[in-house]
Amino acid sequence: MSVTFDNALLESEERRTLRASVAALGRRFGREYFTTAVREGRQTDELWQEAAKLGYLGVNLPEEYGGGGAGLSELAIVLEELGATGCPLLLLVVSPAICGTVIARFGTGEQKRRWLPGLADGTTRMAFGITEPDAGSNSHRITTTARREGDTWVLTGRKVFVSGVDIADATLIVGRTEDARTGRLKPCLFVVPRETPGFEFRHIPMELAAPEKQFQLFLDDVRLPADALVGDEDAGLLQLFAGLNPERVMTAAFSLGMGRYALEVAVEYARVRQVWKAPIGAHQAIAHPLAQARIDLELAGLMTRKAAFLYDAGDDMAAGEAANMAKYAAAEAGARAVDQAVHTLGGNGLTTEYGLASLLTASRVGRIAPVSREMILNFVCHHTLGLPRSY
Ligand SMILES: Cc1cc2nc3c(=O)[nH]c(=O)nc-3n(C[C@H](O)[C@H](O)[C@H](O)COP(=O)(O)OP(=O)(O)OC[C@H]3O[C@@H](n4cnc5c(N)ncnc54)[C@H](O)[C@@H]3O)c2cc1C
Repeated sequence: MSVTFDNALLESEERRTLRASVAALGRRFGREYFTTAVREGRQTDELWQEAAKLGYLGVNLPEEYGGGGAGLSELAIVLEELGATGCPLLLLVVSPAICGTVIARFGTGEQKRRWLPGLADGTTRMAFGITEPDAGSNSHRITTTARREGDTWVLTGRKVFVSGVDIADATLIVGRTEDARTGRLKPCLFVVPRETPGFEFRHIPMELAAPEKQFQLFLDDVRLPADALVGDEDAGLLQLFAGLNPERVMTAAFSLGMGRYALEVAVEYARVRQVWKAPIGAHQAIAHPLAQARIDLELAGLMTRKAAFLYDAGDDMAAGEAANMAKYAAAEAGARAVDQAVHTLGGNGLTTEYGLASLLTASRVGRIAPVSREMILNFVCHHTLGLPRSY
């Protein structure tokens, strides 16, 4: 049993082959490898390196910089299929999807040469920091500010919940420059190498069983060269969303993979576990919610592929709406699938041996980050349905 979209009419031969190869890699490592690494506080570097060697990590990045020259659709396949084997690589959401995309689309030639080859072959990782303690879901309130001093940018601010800063060579920071006339948000993106003086990070203990950790960032007069600014100072929002739409699609893939993994474990368990005359999977109270989970995952998967397709086709506006909807649908489907899977296993749903309970918190991440489900509903209310704002 699997949720694989394994249909030649729906997906090209190349993508189906990619799915199968990534799934084979994921199975070679397996859930046990992943949970052991988490328990021991290690990164899943062996898997990362192997995926890099096979060209999966930079599959979406331009060929001339060492990438695979494919698109977000392919990168989402990589994350979903690894997740479906119990080995989701959260940093794929950030490093190649957001940072790689933004630099590939808006970076200077020099910035592309500096960062893309490493992001493509996995030897460089880049985190992404937008969330701030006092702004939260309202990114218009971010206050991390960049001011010019001659040829230098000086960056000051605070960020929170930024994933993977400790293992990232640099963090792409969303700051703002003051628009002297309007005072409105003019987001600007800066690459801040981890060892830059004034850049400090502090681990936030989280109840999440994942190798990647979250951090609070302190930027105090961080001095950066002029070319730390990625893209045009005046095209901020457009550039930002060029990175945020892939982030939503990848978060959807993250949730889909996790949901598929949990569902597969639950179905296998329901097939063989017997406490009355028939296996528990024969009881409709157990079987129907699993069927529902499967349908929800299929639907969310289709929406995710639509969003990735629109993004790859270059329609940023349509991709934005679809990516939000896909992220919402996949997060809900993933969280419900995990919840039902845990329930299906009874007491075993909470054992370390079966490794499902740790997915309960992990599957909630898709509902909260990078944008909460309420903010997506707000977006659909305003943008799609044309309803008035409450805020
Ligand atoms: C595991 C994890 C990893 C993360 N990684 C990163 C990262 O790498 N980089 C990064 O920048 N950020 C990261 N984040 C941060 C994440 O994007 C934020 O947590 C998220 O945007 C929500 O912001 P907040 O936590 O401040 O919640 P708040 O904005 O305080 O919201 C709290 C609750 O109020 C609701 N709410 C707020 N406003 C409204 C409204 N107008 N209408 C209805 N409901 C509303 C929200 O939906 C939510 O349920 C990560 C978070 C987690 C949990």
